[in-house]
Amino acid sequence: MSSETPKPGLKELRQRLNQVDDDMVRLLAKRLETVGLIAKEKAGSTQAIRDPEREREVLARVETLAQSLGLSAPLARKIFSEIISYSVSRQIASLAGIEGEASEVSVGYQGSPLTYNNLAAEQYLASQNLRGRFVGLPTLKLVIDSLASAAVDLALLPIENTVAGSINQVYDVLREQDLHIVGEESYRVELCLAATADAPASALRRILSHPLALDQCSAFVSALPQARAEPFLDTREAMRAVAEAKDPTLAAIGSPEAAAAHELHILNRNVGNQDEILMRYVALARAPVSVDVRVPCKTSLILSTRHEKGALLRCLHILAEYGLSMTKLESRPRPNRPWEYMFFIDFEGNVAEERAALALEALRSEALYLKILGCYPAKATPAEAQTTVLPEASEITPVEASPTATSAGRPAPSPPVARASKHYRLADRATHPEDTVIRVGSLLIGGTGFVVIAGPCSVESEDQINRTALYVREQGAHILRGGVFKPRTGPYAFQGLGREGLDLLAAAGKAAGLPIITEVMTIEQVRVVAEKSDILQIGARNMQNFPLLSAVGKVDRPVLLKRGLSSTIEEWLAAAEYILAQGNGQVILCERGIRTFESATRNTLDLSAVVVLRERTHLPIVVDPSHGTGKRPYVAPMAWAARACGAHGISVEVHPNPDQALSDGDQSLDFPGFKALMEGLSRVRV
Ligand code: PEP
Ligand code: MN
Repeated sequence: MSSETPKPGLKELRQRLNQVDDDMVRLLAKRLETVGLIAKEKAGSTQAIRDPEREREVLARVETLAQSLGLSAPLARKIFSEIISYSVSRQIASLAGIEGEASEVSVGYQGSPLTYNNLAAEQYLASQNLRGRFVGLPTLKLVIDSLASAAVDLALLPIENTVAGSINQVYDVLREQDLHIVGEESYRVELCLAATADAPASALRRILSHPLALDQCSAFVSALPQARAEPFLDTREAMRAVAEAKDPTLAAIGSPEAAAAHELHILNRNVGNQDEILMRYVALARAPVSVDVRVPCKTSLILSTRHEKGALLRCLHILAEYGLSMTKLESRPRPNRPWEYMFFIDFEGNVAEERAALALEALRSEALYLKILGCYPAKATPAEAQTTVLPEASEITPVEASPTATSAGRPAPSPPVARASKHYRLADRATHPEDTVIRVGSLLIGGTGFVVIAGPCSVESEDQINRTALYVREQGAHILRGGVFKPRTGPYAFQGLGREGLDLLAAAGKAAGLPIITEVMTIEQVRVVAEKSDILQIGARNMQNFPLLSAVGKVDRPVLLKRGLSSTIEEWLAAAEYILAQGNGQVILCERGIRTFESATRNTLDLSAVVVLRERTHLPIVVDPSHGTGKRPYVAPMAWAARACGAHGISVEVHPNPDQALSDGDQSLDFPGFKALMEGLSRVRV
C-alpha cells in the first residue's frame, strides 16, 4: 500500500484552473465595483480622474509582488496597465453621464450585422458599459430618420477614415439635421480577404466589397491583375455572396467576424493600403449631453466666415488665443452658394469650461454663422497624453492682453462683459466695430452698398409674381420680395398662398435672376422656407416672438428683422441678439414705421432710427417706406430720404395693379411709380 496521494489527473487540473479563472473574473468585477464607488466619490469633487502618481504606485506594487511570487514583472505590468486603463474609461463614462442611464440602448447604423459599422457600434457601447440593441438599416437616411423619430436612441455614423478621408454625406447630415454629437469612437478596420477555399490570391478572378473598402485596399487589389474588383452593397453581404456562390475564384473583403460567420477561409489579413486603418465614428442623439469638465472632451462646430480677408484665420486665431487645440478642420460647400464654404471644426475642450465658452462667444461675434454640433468625451485624438485637470483661471490667456495679435489689424475680440443695462452685445458696434456685410450670392448687403428689395405684399398668382419680378429687375432692384405666409390683422383677410406661393416666388426669382425674401411666421415654416428662400423675414408682429427668433438663429440664412410696431430701438437690438446668440450672424434690421398718435400716415416712419442704429450696431439697416407710410404717394420720397440718411437699402411693395391687390394695395407702387422711385434714388447723394 502506498502512502502517496494519487497525482491529480488532467481533468481535475483543468477544473482547478477553471476555478482560478472564475476567481480572477470575480476579483476583477469586485475591483470594478470599487472603481465605481471611487467615480461616485470624484463626481462630487473637483478631483482629477487620472492620478499618474497613484497609477505608478499601483504598477510598482503589483510588479514587486509578482516578482516575489516568481511571476514575470512585465506580464503583471501589462495586465494591470490594461485593467487601469479600463477603470479610467469606466470613470470617464460615469462622469460623462452615459453610464447606466438606460438598461438597454438601441443604436442605429448603416449596413448589416458584422459590417465595420456594426462592430464599431458594439465597441462604442461596450466602452460606455451599456448593453445595446443594434439596428442595421440599408441607408444613411433611414438611420437618421430612425433617430429623429425616436425609433433608436443613438446613431453611430462613420465620419472619417485614415486612408479615405472624410465622409461627406455624414458632414451634410450634421449640417442639415438638428441632432447632436454625444460621443465618438475610433475603430480599427481589419480588412481581410476571404474565399470558400484556401487557394492562393493569384487564383482569384473577382473580389467583392463595399466601394470604400475597395478604395482602402487599392494597392493590394491592383497587384492582382487577373482579379476584378466589384463594388458591393456592404462588406457583410459581399461575404455572404461569396459563400453562397461556392466559387473558389470569388473572394470578398470584409471583417474577420463576417468571414467566420460564413465559414470562409481568410486568405490574407490586413490587405489595406496602410498597416493600421482607423475609422472615426460619431454617435448622434436627439439631445446634447453635458460632460464633466474633468473628462477630456472635444467640441465640434460648423461655421461660415464673414466675407472679409483673413476671416477664417481670425476665427482660428480665437481658438489659439484661448488655448484650445484644433483637431480637425474640414470645408464643405455652402448649399446653393457656389464657391462658398462652411467649415467644420473640432477642438479639444468642453463648452462647460470658461475658456471654451469665451472662445465660442468670440467666434459667434466673428463668424457669420455658427452651429455647435456637440461636446463629447474625446477618443480619437492625435496626442497620447491628455490633461484632465482644469486650467486655473490665471492660465486662461485674456484676449485683451494681446490686442495686436490678429493679423488683419482688427483688435482681438473682447470677452463678453456683463452689462446689466444692455441686452445685446453681439449686435453691439463696440464688439464688432466694422459694418457687417452680408452676402447673398453675388450681392452684398451692408457696408457701402445700397440694396433695393421690391415686390408685392403677397404672392397672388404666377402671372402677378412673374411680371413683377421681371419689371423690378429691369429697373435695377436687387431682391424680389413677396409674402406667402401672411400676418393679417383679421382672420378673414387673404392669408397668403403658403407653400404653393413659395414655389411661385422661387420660380419667379430664378427666372428673373433675383434672390428672394419672404416672411416666416412659425418655427415649422423656418426649415421649409430656408430651403427655397435666400433671406427669411421676421415680420413686425413677431419681432419679440423669441422662440421664432431662436429658430431662425439656427439656420444659415440671412434674416431681415422688422421693427415691432411699438418697440424701442433697444428692444429691437435685443431681439436681433436672440438670432445672433444662436449662431446666425446674418441679421438685417428693417425700420418699417411705429405706432404714434399720428393718423395721417399708417405708421410713423422713424428715420432717426437709422442714424441711431448706425451708431449702436454693425448690422445692416434697411427701410420699408411702404408699411412705414401706408400711402403710395409718400413711398418714393421716404425711400430717397432713407438713402440720404445712411440706410443700407429699402424694401418697397410693388404690384402690377395695386387697386386689385389682395393685400396692402394702398401702399403698393404700380410699375411707373416704381420706375420713378428708382430714378429719384439714383440722384440721391449720400
Ligand atoms: C410685409 O413686409 O409684408 C409685412 C407684413 O410687414 P410688417 O411685418 O412690417 O407689417
Ligand atoms: Mn404688406
